[in-house]
Amino acid sequence: MAQELHHFINGQQVAGKSGRFWDVFNPNTGEVSSKTPLGSTEEVGAAVAAAEKAFPEWSGTNPQRRARVLFKFKELLEANMDELAHMLSSEHGKVIADSKGDIQRGLEVIEFACGIPHLQKGEYTENAGTGIDVYSMRQPLGVVAGITPFNFPAMIPMWMFGVAIACGNTFVCKPSEKDPSVPLKLAELMMEAGAPEGVLNVVNGDKEAVDAILTHPVIKAVSFVGSSAIAEYIYSTATAHGKRCQAMGGAKNHGIILPDADMDQVVDDFVGSAYGSAGERCMALPVAVPVGEDTANRFIEAIKPRVETLKVGISTDPEAHYGPVVTRDHRDKVVGYINKGVEEGADLLIDGRDFSLQGYENGFFLGASLFDKVTTDMETYREEIFGPVLQVVRSESFEEAMQLPSKHQYGNGVAIFTRDGDAAREFASQVNVGMVGINVPIPVPLAYHTFGGWKRSAFGDVNQHGPEGVRFYTKIKTVTARWPKGLKEGASFVIPTMN
Ligand code: NAD
Repeated sequence: MAQELHHFINGQQVAGKSGRFWDVFNPNTGEVSSKTPLGSTEEVGAAVAAAEKAFPEWSGTNPQRRARVLFKFKELLEANMDELAHMLSSEHGKVIADSKGDIQRGLEVIEFACGIPHLQKGEYTENAGTGIDVYSMRQPLGVVAGITPFNFPAMIPMWMFGVAIACGNTFVCKPSEKDPSVPLKLAELMMEAGAPEGVLNVVNGDKEAVDAILTHPVIKAVSFVGSSAIAEYIYSTATAHGKRCQAMGGAKNHGIILPDADMDQVVDDFVGSAYGSAGERCMALPVAVPVGEDTANRFIEAIKPRVETLKVGISTDPEAHYGPVVTRDHRDKVVGYINKGVEEGADLLIDGRDFSLQGYENGFFLGASLFDKVTTDMETYREEIFGPVLQVVRSESFEEAMQLPSKHQYGNGVAIFTRDGDAAREFASQVNVGMVGINVPIPVPLAYHTFGGWKRSAFGDVNQHGPEGVRFYTKIKTVTARWPKGLKEGASFVIPTMN
């Protein structure tokens, strides 16, 4: 019997009451490992009520004390790293070292959030007028919510609740139904770290729980990460219900290879970033754009043997470069895109569709696939595949190459590989994409910078974490105070100015 998971509301594990469940798989074996309860509108309501009750005390707790809870939480993450990584791998399928990276990236946002006493400081102008001082303060919003995808079940919840809770908000997290165990465990660790009951709640669920969040009158802001169609829906629904919203979507990141690039390094970078985590990263690099026929030929010649010898294995195999994809449906979807690429006339140089791992024939494994001569009119180029598939789009010039990511519907990340500083500088300045790598294949900004793409990769104006995260989870209040020296006699009927 598969284990039944729970929600985490008001500091306690709470059994699902809706009677609806989602099967969570071990993607290595294809077996159902547990069942996620799919929360109802009432269950979301209970989590929001717990968060609302916790808000006055938590928002009134001084920022240094809030930071101490996060410091303790960071220590607990480190102490529980192995357990969390195994839990994550067994539901997601990414290899253990990569799962640790997922947790570590979230932990770094917690480290950033530990600086909240400094980050949340307001501004002050003494003597803005005679005897008049002006100051501003950043106040938490209240109850806020996060809706997260399957592919970073540790990092992305922490992007959101780490900063939100540090700012004094209370939080309701709706993780992906496909791998909810790590977010549930994070909520328990936050309690152990000293967060009061109700400060961090986790409600599992699907569209019903999401819609309950988007329309709940008490929730002030919604942060979302997932695919673009859902991100657009989240943004339009949340904002129509008066909420602040940031909704990060899908991606199709290009890597431009100029003729002068160090080809050995380029190949290392592409095999890692196109196939790592089975390509299930929004900052993966699934499109290579070599500039010039000679560069393209050298790239294919160098990368092909590397792709052919990639080791696909179970997620606990320390030798494996990547593990299975998350579900059978997702595997079928990726295979569908590869079939489509073949139909559309791209050259499938390496075909990973029929890969099967001995002893794990029911696992959701895919071999690495490599396409050459992909063109911009192909659906497989326009859409996000989110699997272990690298597509090579040949380009004749630097200008033409730069237009590809600039004109693509997605604008999450992009990379350029070159030794030419002028070209790299122009590229970084001109390309129509939100996050740029220069000889860096996965330019995920560090926690104290900010994460966010452009175009259909993000809806809303404020990015995740870094100072932008603090802005997202706070509202500014500006106070103008007048003391006796500034007092004037008599009523004034004109707007006060500095004249
Ligand atoms: P998804 O859009 O299927 O699911 C994301 C969340 O939305 C989940 O919590 C899910 O339960 C919920 N959801 C799904 N369908 C819904 C519906 N019809 N109505 C309301 N809610 C719904 O995404 P996923 O498959 O979990 O994650 C992969 C996607 O996330 C990829 O497109 C990837 O590029 C993207 N992603 C983007 C970023 C980024 O920062 N831009 C980061 C990670 C992942």
